[in-house]
Amino acid sequence: MRLLVVSTPVGPLGQGRGGGVEHTGAMIVAGLLGRGHAVTVLAAEGSQLPPACAGARLWCEPGAVQASWQHGPREAPVQIPASSLLSRLWQRALEHQDGFDLILNLSYDWLPFWLSRFTTTPLVHLVSMGSVALAMDEVIEAVAQWRPGRLAFHTASQAADFRLPTPPRLVGNGFDLARYRPPSPDAVQPALGWAGRIAPEKGLEDAARVAAGLGLPLRVWGLREDEAYATAVERLVPAGTIEWRGFLATDRFQAELGLCRVFLNTPKWNEAFGNVVVEAMACGVPIAAYARGGPGELVHEGCNGALAQADDLAALAAAVQRAAGLDRAACRRWAELHHAPEVFTQRIEAWLQAALAEG
Ligand code: UDP
Repeated sequence: MRLLVVSTPVGPLGQGRGGGVEHTGAMIVAGLLGRGHAVTVLAAEGSQLPPACAGARLWCEPGAVQASWQHGPREAPVQIPASSLLSRLWQRALEHQDGFDLILNLSYDWLPFWLSRFTTTPLVHLVSMGSVALAMDEVIEAVAQWRPGRLAFHTASQAADFRLPTPPRLVGNGFDLARYRPPSPDAVQPALGWAGRIAPEKGLEDAARVAAGLGLPLRVWGLREDEAYATAVERLVPAGTIEWRGFLATDRFQAELGLCRVFLNTPKWNEAFGNVVVEAMACGVPIAAYARGGPGELVHEGCNGALAQADDLAALAAAVQRAAGLDRAACRRWAELHHAPEVFTQRIEAWLQAALAEG
């Protein structure tokens, strides 16, 4: 297949603003290249593709970035700024669509979903979030009613947010596990870990409170997307509880992540997947997570972590203690069994081929 992969309009690839979509996009591109497909990536100016995607052609467009849908009210209207990156990306995609067999949209934005019916080259969408806004629900559900095969989701919990006429196509996510190396057990330190965009929907405050209650430092990796929120969380807990580690490239991220005793995941929203949960498992770190969204599906009590009822801090603290006693090698094995890149590529390829056959 000749594929055009259109990236997120919230920022350039490689800087973390796109959250898990950046990782997912790179895994898809590398996987499809490996299967012999020709891949072009269309992304914001300043984007960088990881070395595994070197075989892809990269087209970049300038323009004003989109605000993330999850940070507005549910009733928010569709907004496109002047000199918009989103409209530049889709103008270029439409101008060149005849050169491709299929267009794969990775952005959670209104315009590409709305365009679905009007492209001459089939346009498919990997939906990266659950329901966060009415206008997005409506346009996603309209595609589902028209051609359900044009949509794929990461997890059942995420897909359940939408009214779909047929069971959803679920693709999970894949990880280049060779890049994540569990350290030797005696290198593990008395510290907890947390990673993700520093933004309210990620619930860092709950992890910080539990770490403070247990008297353990909480190492935090990720982009400070919402500075005021990050400062407010820091004020909630004794000084020194949070150790800010910044947004790191995968190689350094995994090296630091692996040293944590337990990894916490505390989403306040219906997290679509939760890449960082699997990344921590891949480093041999057991998880303590809320039973909500993707992490609620990824974490299996007693195997790779422990689950707590969502928003219950005492239950989360107990989950940390249960998780700390788990076999770290079993966490790594879980990631190998369920989240290997080949499995993900097969699912993506099968979906794209089915959509292509359907037209
Ligand atoms: N991440 C990273 N470096 C860091 C912290 C996080 O590269 O220092 C990446 C991580 O690999 C993951 C993404 O940020 O792919 C966060 O994705 P997730 O699915 O956990 O949440 P999202 O941001 O999509 O809501």
